[in-house]
Amino acid sequence: MTRLYLSTTIPYVNARPHVGHALELVQADVIARHHRRIGDEVRLQSGTDDNSLKNVLAAQLEGISTTELVNRNASAFAALREQLSLSFDDFIRTSADPRHRPGVERLWRACQASGDLYRKDYQGLYCVGCEQFYTEDELTDGTCPEHKTKPEQVTEENWFFRLSRYASRLREEISSGRLRIEPVTRRNEVLGFIDGGLADFSVSRSVQRAGGWGIGVPGDPSQVIYVWWDALGNYITALGYGGSGTDYQRWWVEADRRVHLVGKGVLRFHAVYWPAILLSAGAPLPTEIFVHDYLTAGGSKISKSAAGQERTDPAELADTYGADALRWWLLRDVPRVGDTDFTVGRLIGRANADLANGLGNLVSRVGSVAYHYRNGVVRPCSLPDGISRWLAAASDGRVPRGDDAALPWPADAAGLLAAVERTPDAVRAALARFDFRAAAAAVFDIVDQANRYVEATEPWHLGRAERAGDVSAGWRLDQVLGALVAACQALAGEIWPFLPDLAARVAAAVDDFGGRLPKPQQVFPRIQLSEPGYAAEAADTGVRSEVA
Ligand SMILES: [Zn+2]
Repeated sequence: MTRLYLSTTIPYVNARPHVGHALELVQADVIARHHRRIGDEVRLQSGTDDNSLKNVLAAQLEGISTTELVNRNASAFAALREQLSLSFDDFIRTSADPRHRPGVERLWRACQASGDLYRKDYQGLYCVGCEQFYTEDELTDGTCPEHKTKPEQVTEENWFFRLSRYASRLREEISSGRLRIEPVTRRNEVLGFIDGGLADFSVSRSVQRAGGWGIGVPGDPSQVIYVWWDALGNYITALGYGGSGTDYQRWWVEADRRVHLVGKGVLRFHAVYWPAILLSAGAPLPTEIFVHDYLTAGGSKISKSAAGQERTDPAELADTYGADALRWWLLRDVPRVGDTDFTVGRLIGRANADLANGLGNLVSRVGSVAYHYRNGVVRPCSLPDGISRWLAAASDGRVPRGDDAALPWPADAAGLLAAVERTPDAVRAALARFDFRAAAAAVFDIVDQANRYVEATEPWHLGRAERAGDVSAGWRLDQVLGALVAACQALAGEIWPFLPDLAARVAAAVDDFGGRLPKPQQVFPRIQLSEPGYAAEAADTGVRSEVA
């Protein structure tokens, strides 16, 4: 059994969440659920970065207090847990959580005790959007490469962190793989950055420039701790690093894996600054950092002013199309490497093709045949060892299968059996390399093979033949249904980390524990294309109904 501590980044909350935030949250949720399901110990951490200067500026623009703006937007992020069926165990808000400030202060003092913090006059080009200083040669035509705005010239005395001291140790940790950065191109990018020379960096701001917002430097009332230091600290302050509890020991120091999921824009902070701070503080480093790329929306960067843009509010998308449809698009269509364009049409097209037609059609055909020709009484074929089925009674999806199933797999269902057998390993392997698309495809292998088996055996014909007096067709129908129901039970278990809500409905539809399957119901109705423009992308075939 592995003990896994897994975190998302904590977004700054100058605006409501968009679909790009949902990507990282859903990815983290899948890993957490997958490991819980196979019996590992998991703690999934999320939260919001309330202390960003961007929040102060956004509040000024709206003419409200920073606290009011931060509370409103942070609540919208926290609400995603319910709306997207996420399973994070903890959600930290850096301005409001009583665990955070003492932890950040302890981290500061630990680095100070190592001799790594010192005061220095500083002059630099500062991008407020990035909350970071840039050197001239890092700018594009004199503007921030991320925001295309001109950074401001800032001169003040700040606290500095002795990053230069940790270059060779960081390099060693990363190149040895003790700190594994995926994909490997991102690891090479970090190594290249380290090899270019690490300069000490400023880790405080004047109280004035921070607008009085943030956490004060211990022992220096004129300065506020740099928001990135503050935000990165959340990964351990949420574990009570500044307090007296045991979570920090249990989930950070003694965890087998400490995994951060981050976007490509914050790679340097997580793969260089954060590990260096931890080395200075004498704390263990993360074991893995997975870096995802970005989503665009309708061909352009997702912007806060959504006028004329694709709809990108994850709460609204989940409310309209269901959390399953949104999660599935994020998992099944977003590749491990490269930016991906989101459109509502693509979300609908993917959901209708896979979830309504592929999976929904399979479950409704199996349920209908079982209902019409067996009154719901089906003996599922026995599942191979190591494959657990999902019991509707268990909300956490990890109940091991019972041993009551007795029918052997029919010889002509070997392809379906092979798909059921290979899926758990394929999912495990894909998720180990953070390839969510491959993992989702591996689960769908069962759906495809099962539908192929339905087409090949046409169980409704067997049912009609049996009623016409063909006894052997009846035996055959038992076998076919036994294999299909067992495959759907396994499918419900395997798809649970990806689509927990749909998994529960599939499990309920093929649950034979009362001795009989329930009356068949659609587990994923087609999304109707009421809005023009979606039809071309979302075009697919209708649900077939050969039964009855
Ligand atoms: Zn910027």
